[in-house]
Amino acid sequence: MSVTNFYSLSVPGLKEFLQGLGKEQFRAQQLYKWVYEKRVQDPEQMLNLSKDFRAELKGKVSFDLPAMTQHLKSLDGTQKFLFQLKDGLTVESVLIPSEERLTLCISSEVGCNMACKFCYTGKQKLKRRLTADEIVGQFILVEDVIKAQEQKVSNLVFMGMGEPLDNCEAVFNSIEILTNDFGRNISRRKITVSTSGLIPEMWRVTASRTRLAVSLNGYDEASRSELMPINKKYSLAALLDECLKYTQATGDRVTFEYVLLKGLTDQVEHARQLWQAVRRVPCKINIIPFNEHPGSIYERPSDATIERFHSELGRLGAHVLMRRTMGRDIFAACGQLTSEFENKPRNMDISNSKIGGVARV
Ligand code: SAH
Ligand code: SF4
Repeated sequence: MSVTNFYSLSVPGLKEFLQGLGKEQFRAQQLYKWVYEKRVQDPEQMLNLSKDFRAELKGKVSFDLPAMTQHLKSLDGTQKFLFQLKDGLTVESVLIPSEERLTLCISSEVGCNMACKFCYTGKQKLKRRLTADEIVGQFILVEDVIKAQEQKVSNLVFMGMGEPLDNCEAVFNSIEILTNDFGRNISRRKITVSTSGLIPEMWRVTASRTRLAVSLNGYDEASRSELMPINKKYSLAALLDECLKYTQATGDRVTFEYVLLKGLTDQVEHARQLWQAVRRVPCKINIIPFNEHPGSIYERPSDATIERFHSELGRLGAHVLMRRTMGRDIFAACGQLTSEFENKPRNMDISNSKIGGVARV
């Protein structure tokens, strides 16, 4: 007998499932409320359901979530969570506090096939795509932990491990689940999907009414192709056309992410070329100083170089943000996530970090 994981069912999916059991459609709403609002996962405790139905659910639905096997807290307040999946593979999520937000950065795949040269996740080939319940699970389990501190996630970003648009079915299904009114009801405007530029799938971000972030990292075709092999398939020019379409369809700006690599992409001249390329697209540019990781051949520019790049873009009229590096002491910064905990750098500085309740939930 096949067992369905509840956390992979959107409301329409759940309704269809219930129909198969000969149950009323309004039961979907009741079940969502039990699970997402009240956090009850044992059908026995769902008292507005008949005894028979509860027994049937027990046999046909599982509420399994990944196991949270590690929880690290950085001195700057960033928290990192390691999850072990059913087949033993692991992924990470990072919770980043800022003045008015609590942003959760989640993973969509174990490893990544895009092979961007500066990215630690990209060093590892794709092992597998996450299922919707494993994506939803990261969110739910983190919220279960922070609830004790009376906190809630305010923003969700698909900027952890993996390329979300290489796993569209599960990613957009998880978005439907988490945004449902009867479920966690997170606003679509508070969700950002970040892509390395899989053009044929970008319309899905528009259709899901979430926000689009695009990792540019190069200032022209050649520099982008050098750093991100995907550019050889989908050119920067075509990518920017697609971004323009997104802005026209949604009225929102695109966020461009741009990693600053010492000597390679951090010069004032590069800032000018970048601006020349993107200025036709309503955008914000998020500059991210490179975060070092084991085996990487790149370096982080000096603070003065970073500042020069930043102010040049500002001077040119760009809406530019400098991403403050968070969580470096727990190896949780952008591009530092990996699924192979055993291979983590041995010199990772967690001496100042509080190892929070290593919870197996
Ligand atoms: N695969 C998606 C989302 C995950 S990567 C994408 O590429 O957009 C999230 C961001 O981290 C990307 O913008 C990427 O350019 C950036 N990044 C990767 N490695 C990095 C590193 N070592 N230092 C700083 N940023 C990095
Ligand atoms: Fe994959 Fe994004 Fe890393 Fe590129 S930057 S290898 S797309 S996770």
